[in-house]
Amino acid sequence: MTFWGHPVDVPSAAAVSEPAGARLHLFNHATMDHYRQALAAGIDRVATRIAAADRPFSGISPSLLVPEISAIDLEHPLRDPAAALDELEDVYLRDAVYFHHPRYLAHLNCPVVIPALLGEAVLTAVNSSLDTWDQSAGGTLIERRLIDWTAGRVGFGHQADGVFTSGGTQSNLQALLLAREEARAFATAGSAASAGHEPLPRLRVIASEAGHFSVQKSAKLLGLGPDAVITVETGPDRRMRPAALARELERCRRENLLVMAVVATAGTTDFGTIDPLPEIADLCARAGTWLHVDAAYGCGLLVSRTRRHLLDGIERADSVTVDFHKSFFQPVSSSALLVRDGAVLRHATYHADYLNPARMAEQRIPNQVDKSIQTTRRFDALKLWMTLRIMGPDGIGELFDEVVDRTAAAWDLLAADARFEIVTKSQLSTLVFRYLPPEGPGRKLADDANLYAREALAASGAAVVAGTKVDGRHYLKFTLLNPETTLDDIAHVVELIAEHAGRYVNDRAPLETCGQAG
Ligand SMILES: *Cc1c(COP(=O)(O)O)cnc(C)c1O
Repeated sequence: MTFWGHPVDVPSAAAVSEPAGARLHLFNHATMDHYRQALAAGIDRVATRIAAADRPFSGISPSLLVPEISAIDLEHPLRDPAAALDELEDVYLRDAVYFHHPRYLAHLNCPVVIPALLGEAVLTAVNSSLDTWDQSAGGTLIERRLIDWTAGRVGFGHQADGVFTSGGTQSNLQALLLAREEARAFATAGSAASAGHEPLPRLRVIASEAGHFSVQKSAKLLGLGPDAVITVETGPDRRMRPAALARELERCRRENLLVMAVVATAGTTDFGTIDPLPEIADLCARAGTWLHVDAAYGCGLLVSRTRRHLLDGIERADSVTVDFHKSFFQPVSSSALLVRDGAVLRHATYHADYLNPARMAEQRIPNQVDKSIQTTRRFDALKLWMTLRIMGPDGIGELFDEVVDRTAAAWDLLAADARFEIVTKSQLSTLVFRYLPPEGPGRKLADDANLYAREALAASGAAVVAGTKVDGRHYLKFTLLNPETTLDDIAHVVELIAEHAGRYVNDRAPLETCGQAG
């Protein structure tokens, strides 16, 4: 460096305050080089892994992985990020399940979009907490914009509001909490006779038999009785039968039970089917019952240019669950609860002197904790924000439409294959089917053959598929959320299933015949 032409020796800022020891790892102005290097190294590992993955899974069993992880001495740190990443290769990266791989077809996990990863990297580094304005500032306003945007897509009016949550389970829990409080207020209002009379045991929630289990779990957490959730049957199309709902609503009325909410599912987890929302909304309106639409899976339709109509009627809900970490290609976690009337969020409001005293609400300081059942809360909204700002809603919708189209093509493929039996046509991106052994003694091995095929596939790592039970029988399930999964990939996995299941039956069917003879 020169000063007026004379060379001078100026120590750099880093040299003056070179952090040492544990301080090297604190994220601050003095550790920027360390931060850049550590993150770049981590990104490089993941990129190399993802680029090289030839299978979605190594097929490792817990018994092989447990000793590796148990052997790590947590009292003796490696100090060096590169060494820790080397170790991580062995205990995690090598054997992780990669949703990015085209032959991962199991659960509702999506490959993630790069704009969201960028958002994730920013939000964890800045580490805003969205409980209060004074811990987030712009973060709070960004989350609010996204809630308004999503509510607009749902078709809610200006009274709408909501909050980001950790997932569909939490969104459903909060929706039912709000519904319970509304029902309680209704049940105890007015008449002195009912004052002080706890209506909790009389409260009921109605969902279809294909609804998500978090509804049952929520009922338990909300202090409802063991019989509180009434499940109504679905038709052969695996959608709630409105007539069955009408019958249950009427029965509850007769028996003086108070239906605090009807939960309609827009995208059942098992079948990808959407309950008939307009008919259900009519019945709820007539009965004066809260309608919650669980669109954890189907929310991707909100940005589809060709299939948005499948959600028609959702705008009549009182509350809606959306999981951006399913059909919006966002990293876990990213979900939201939306309500048609923002005033109901008051049931989640408590004022703590240290955090969000009532006077702050009077001053209209936007504290999201007033609407949430969490306190410290991630700025997950930033991932969706970056995604919308870089790709736009149509970009997301295009990806989701692609997997729905691919599923329809895969349905045709399976329907034309006599070795398989399919349950129902999905409106979204699931396929529930099973290998059906040829007529004869092998037929009765169908359940075990399908269970075996799933396990054998996972153990080989060649593909990961899911399983479920339908009417008491074991089925296999594909959930397609990867636009990179081609019809060839699907055909390949179908062949592997037929091979594994077929071999299972061939090895055992002769024994079955002997067993019968003896
Ligand atoms: C996945 C799912 C949920 C639960 O959501 P999480 O984000 O896993 O908590 C709830 N409802 C439906 C219909 C789902 O598919």
